[in-house]
Amino acid sequence: MRVWAIANQKGGVGKTTTTLALGRILAERGLRVLLVDLDPHASLTRAFGVAAEPPPAGVAELFAAPPQSLAALMRPSAVEGMDFVCAQTSLATLERRSVSQPGLGLALSQALSRHAGHDYILLDCPPMLGLLVVNALAAADRLVIPTQCEPLALHGLAGMRRTGAMIERSRKRPLPTAILPTLFDRRTRAGRDTLALLGEEYRGEVWDDAIPIDTLISNAELVAGQSFANGLPGRALPAYGRALDWLLDSERALERAA
Ligand code: ADP
Ligand code: MG
Repeated sequence: MRVWAIANQKGGVGKTTTTLALGRILAERGLRVLLVDLDPHASLTRAFGVAAEPPPAGVAELFAAPPQSLAALMRPSAVEGMDFVCAQTSLATLERRSVSQPGLGLALSQALSRHAGHDYILLDCPPMLGLLVVNALAAADRLVIPTQCEPLALHGLAGMRRTGAMIERSRKRPLPTAILPTLFDRRTRAGRDTLALLGEEYRGEVWDDAIPIDTLISNAELVAGQSFANGLPGRALPAYGRALDWLLDSERALERAA
């Protein structure tokens, strides 16, 4: 079982889209995938057609006493081999509980250590550096950072890498980083320059390609109730296939080196 945290403290960089796309392609290749929505905004949950009210059972129950198992919380998606665990809006209050309950940072790791039946677990993280991201990074084998191809996005990337490095030190287990350039518009100078800069600054850690801006993705979300998890359309999907190949290749290289 491999656990990938899809994280960036910046919102709107493609974390949820990346989680859905990689999950779907892994499942189509015959692997069993579990997507976990750790974002109180619950966009992944919404993409699977689950409403906010009444609150679905989900990630909050991993933090309950006693905690529920992932197997009890997961639901099947329309894609064969791909299951998901919902986020609830109440997750936003978890940060406050963390002060009085120090063990809370490892709730997800503990749930995953008791979990079997999936080849890949993808953790869709919220755009903030709080308890839920700490849980994800503590549990992950790999930190995948989708990064929007625009100059300002590089700050979020640097902050996310620092957080990853901090968790890596405290858990004493490597947390290799993979940077995925997203929302790339090759017609803009800023997009091309940012992509080049990423390649220079993060050599070896960044994919040498990018997920293109795909107007069909944004439109798909506007169609009420349509779940783009079930049919991520357009140009971006083949690019996500290549991104996945790179992630899997570099994962094998890391394992050989270890
Ligand atoms: P995050 O989870 O980081 O907040 P999302 O995956 O929700 O980011 O993406 C933010 C917005 O951008 C969403 O409306 C999504 O549909 C859109 N989006 C994501 N990737 C693409 C893409 N490659 N092309 C066009 N729109 C995209
Ligand atoms: Mg999101």
